Amino acid sequence: MQAYESGSPGVVVKSGEALSSPPSRGLLNLLSPGGLHSRLSILIYHRVLPVPDPLFPEDGHAEIFDNQMGQLAACFNIISLLDAIQGLQEGSLPPRAACITFDDGYADNAEVALPILQKHGLSATFFVATSFLNGGRMWNDTVIELIRRAPGDMLDLSRMGLGQFEIGTIPQRRQAIHDVLGELKYLPLESRQSCVDAMCAIIPVIPSSNLMMTSDQIRILHHAGMEIGGHTANHPILASMENKAARTEIADGKEMLESIIHAPVRLFAYPNGKPGRDYLSDHVKMVRDLGFEAAVSTAHGAARTGADLYQLPRFTPWDRGQIRFILRMAQNMLKIAETI
Ligand SMILES: [Zn+2]
Repeated sequence: MQAYESGSPGVVVKSGEALSSPPSRGLLNLLSPGGLHSRLSILIYHRVLPVPDPLFPEDGHAEIFDNQMGQLAACFNIISLLDAIQGLQEGSLPPRAACITFDDGYADNAEVALPILQKHGLSATFFVATSFLNGGRMWNDTVIELIRRAPGDMLDLSRMGLGQFEIGTIPQRRQAIHDVLGELKYLPLESRQSCVDAMCAIIPVIPSSNLMMTSDQIRILHHAGMEIGGHTANHPILASMENKAARTEIADGKEMLESIIHAPVRLFAYPNGKPGRDYLSDHVKMVRDLGFEAAVSTAHGAARTGADLYQLPRFTPWDRGQIRFILRMAQNMLKIAETI
């Protein structure tokens, strides 16, 4: 947990050379031996719930996250993303290099994930969409909260062209959430918001207002040595916007975060992050022009020396059990990451 210092001599190795099971590390050493032939794994997380969610019990929660951080600390050399970028440029990454990142800015990142990261001595980067800070909520969470708590066995959303849904059982509620999110995801920002507003008007539920971080929580992460990265203001699909509006989204998010932490925001994560679908080459150029030093996508794979620093791939296995987790990480290292 050490903030990057520009004068530091190369990459800082944070964890566990003496720990872990030799077979796992042997395999990972073969795939990512360090230096010019290294492969950088960047893990992506969103929420880390304090306890399992009854509606989505397989989603990440504190116990699994703690377990994974233990495995990572034992099997990988976890370094900060800024150090990793320097290592990628110089061909000086340690063997089994990996970084941890979080997207969106959920309050549980500060409340649940931070103490676990600190317990394991790990650093991470938090990419925050700024419009939802201090009591806001992302549209998808509003949909989830509304359908999770909607009364009755049937939900009629035909007024906004979404149809009717059976919600009498947990699987039916999950399916309804899945279907509605799928319908709304790629709508233009304004039409999507008016659909969500219409849902709020007809479902008698008040969604919680403490899902996302406060400015103070951002400062707590920053002061704990964590990196804060840009993720736009409103989390739009950049590829579905006019270029001018996309640039404003990226710039506004950066400016807001810098005013909170009083430090430069040097890294960026594309919302949704799929190359060619969620962001295009124009957006890569904008991110570079606005002064970010690197950016991450959600394409799977591991970055190699000479990788495009503005389209670094990310991946997270949520497998339980060390062998499955390590095998999945190994498999991801072999993948050639998609870029545009
Ligand atoms: Zn996001």
